Amino acid sequence: MKGKDIKCSFCGKDKSETQVLIAGISGHICDQCIVQAQGIVGQETADKLRNSIAHSLTIFKPGEIKKFLDAYVIGQEHAKKVISVAVYNHYKRLTYTYKNKYDVEIEKSNIIMVGETGTGKTLLARTIARMLNVPFCIADATVLTEAGYVGEDVESLLTRLLQAADYDVPSAERGIVYIDEIDKIARKSDNPSITRDVSGEGVQQALLKLLEGSVINVPPHGGRKHPEQKMIAINTQNILFICGGAFEGIDKKIARRLQTRVVGYNTSKEARSVDRENLLQYITPQDLKSFGLIPELIGRLPLITFLQPLDKAALRSILTEPKNALLRQYEKLFEMEGIKLRFEKEVLDYIVDKAMEFRLGARGLRSICEAIMLDAMFESPSQKGIKELSVTLDYAKEKVEKSNIAQLRVA
Ligand code: ADP
Repeated sequence: MKGKDIKCSFCGKDKSETQVLIAGISGHICDQCIVQAQGIVGQETADKLRNSIAHSLTIFKPGEIKKFLDAYVIGQEHAKKVISVAVYNHYKRLTYTYKNKYDVEIEKSNIIMVGETGTGKTLLARTIARMLNVPFCIADATVLTEAGYVGEDVESLLTRLLQAADYDVPSAERGIVYIDEIDKIARKSDNPSITRDVSGEGVQQALLKLLEGSVINVPPHGGRKHPEQKMIAINTQNILFICGGAFEGIDKKIARRLQTRVVGYNTSKEARSVDRENLLQYITPQDLKSFGLIPELIGRLPLITFLQPLDKAALRSILTEPKNALLRQYEKLFEMEGIKLRFEKEVLDYIVDKAMEFRLGARGLRSICEAIMLDAMFESPSQKGIKELSVTLDYAKEKVEKSNIAQLRVA
């Protein structure tokens, strides 16, 4: 065969029109056909992998999911129920979508959780991911900025997920992303035409495409996107987004709304049944909107749930009951040194009282325990012959008062 007659056996292009033409036993393939073929192989392999993942997904019933959550998270019944059902549906939807590619599409149900700091929002999201054994990452909405501003692009959320999945794209594509402090990107005024809070609203806009499910090009190592960087395409359609925020002051908005409604209908029965101590339970999308989330974003977070402030009883349970309860962790740490650690009953009450005083939710428990245990943890590894250590109320009080923990107090 003469050089000028050689053609690509796939597209028929003449050798002169190609960059590279590779010869096989009975034909040739050009560089462009190689690229195309590689794409097809990649796609097919990914589809096969996704299908096998879909088949291998164990779907836990909502009741089972809740039971698992119960072992780690104290109280928060409503949030646990909502999340259990959402996750169940999410995975049902996952297997359904894979098996019936072109059939009816069940919309995904991203979740938004409203509740004071330290009430268990992150813990819930983390526990769910642990149960499902899927990649999970936590990101803070406050570091996100609109493209072009100083800060991280919203795509960086997916970079983290990708890293959590060890760069396994199909695995990342069924992961869970927890976006904390979503309330901090609220726009400052309900009326966009009066005060335009560009940064907050811009980030909300940027988040939309992530939440709704689309293919996003993600810089594999984070940072700013730049033209030379090779991107990884991630489809967010099956990624579950859980957002959380304290939404400080939203209770007043809820109260105002309830008040006007109650007055409007003049139903004193309804007025009486409102539990003023815990207004979060009445939260609706409308309240999120008055707080400053844009309606499009609220629309993509169809499940709203709330977390109750933790009372004394709940805080006390958190100290001792969950599988990885704080005090159990200290006991374990000392056990490794061959020391049996004991806390007097009064110490538990004292820790709880202090945590209530500092108003840091369960987060305060940890700091208080650290303050109490620091010296013992410092000294015990080098002390010989100690078999038992009992933490008494006087000891606990002395350590807390000596520490600078009182600065934690929320004004
Ligand atoms: P949030 O995200 O609501 O600010 P976290 O979930 O980060 O709070 O909670 C902080 C810590 O407090 C957790 O690591 C956990 O140990 C503990 N904690 C908070 N709420 C609960 C709860 N309801 N049950 C058990 N532990 C909790």
